[in-house]
Amino acid sequence: MRRVVILFALFALAPPAFADAPSDARALLSQLISIDTSNPPGHEELAVAAVARQLRAAGVSPEIVPFAPGRSSLVARYRGDGSKRPLLLLAHLDVVGAAGQPWTVPPFHLTEKDGWLYGRGVLDDKGFAAVATTVFLELVRTHAKLHRDVILALTGDEESGGAGLREILAHHRALVGDAELGLNEGGSIKLDEHGRVVSVSYQAAEKTYQSFQLTAPGLGGHASVPNDENAIYRLARALDKIHALVFPPRLGPTVREELRAMAAHSPDARAAALRRLADAKGTPPASALAIVDEYPLTRAMVRTTCTATMLSGGTRENALPVLARATLNCRLMPGDRTADVERALIQAIGDPKIAVKRLEDNGAGPEIPVGGPVRDALERVSAQLFGKRALVSASVGLGATDSRFLRRLGIHSYGIGVMPKPEELIRSPHGPDEGAPATSVATGVRFLSALVDALAR
Ligand SMILES: [Zn+2]
Repeated sequence: MRRVVILFALFALAPPAFADAPSDARALLSQLISIDTSNPPGHEELAVAAVARQLRAAGVSPEIVPFAPGRSSLVARYRGDGSKRPLLLLAHLDVVGAAGQPWTVPPFHLTEKDGWLYGRGVLDDKGFAAVATTVFLELVRTHAKLHRDVILALTGDEESGGAGLREILAHHRALVGDAELGLNEGGSIKLDEHGRVVSVSYQAAEKTYQSFQLTAPGLGGHASVPNDENAIYRLARALDKIHALVFPPRLGPTVREELRAMAAHSPDARAAALRRLADAKGTPPASALAIVDEYPLTRAMVRTTCTATMLSGGTRENALPVLARATLNCRLMPGDRTADVERALIQAIGDPKIAVKRLEDNGAGPEIPVGGPVRDALERVSAQLFGKRALVSASVGLGATDSRFLRRLGIHSYGIGVMPKPEELIRSPHGPDEGAPATSVATGVRFLSALVDALAR
């Protein structure tokens, strides 16, 4: 037994730090992708078990937190000297399903083709999970001396309602609740067409997801004798008004920085408008706003948006509808409140017969500081690994991540990217052929490892 221990110790010391880490991360990514954790139903406990086995083999005892049958999350902690509060590495193990999508490779198998890695979860978020686990295991294997504990949390159900992390926070908060800083999905490392890193963006705020249902009543009756109380027309009029409803811009510190960063890569006229908005004091200049509003993406960056996404009404082609319904999906700017948006919708519709109902509350989180230790570490690590031309900047997430639950507790959880990739719409998260350049895994390990060093060592 002792010989085994000594051999193990020698083996652990033998390779230089990180020699095997990229291939370890890739092997783990491959294993995680081959476990189908499409949510629903999730089945994250199989992926949790795979990671737990690796942690236990390295002498770490993870906590496993079930939150539904077949579903669990995992938390493990590497101890620092306690002179600073912990750093949390957070990734989710569930993925969006691939059924019905035109994949050209098997989604639940890691495929390398023409210098790219494909598989459901490569970007969202099994790549992050594999890289974070590998970096965590390297801390363990090298007995890293740290000022902070590093907590690894791999959660389930992020793609639906965040039940995995919510269960941890509700009933096992001590596992992660003492963290000061968090690194989670939500940012990006962008490559140009030559494969060089051009930007490192991190997310310090995100829009809040909130849907509403509109219900319009109608009188009904035979379609041969139309009346003026047709539910479908009534709803259509309301939707037209929602389409015209423009929410006021909200220019917090994160948005301003994002506008400035965007200006650096924009043609002159647009760049000037973006800068004027970024620097605006008081009421933002209307001419600059008009230019930003021309583009759906920048419009969504500066304003709360609500848009119709589902529609139903009527039961037979020869009967007047007694009911018509639409779903609106709203994305609230950090700082905008659901109650105010609801009031704005009701006011814009201007028809008391149309019921406006709030659907499930997905929760919001506050904006966290754009500057601070994570920003400083990103600047340093990015300059080291990618050189001076890589621009580090903050961004507002247009979707929601689990960071919102942590931010509400005062944990500064930043969204970062660990898998460098070009800016392109194909091969993106949630779609078919989700993929990243094959070199991303190795770069991701070096990047996250350097970031953890900068923040915790
Ligand atoms: Zn995700």
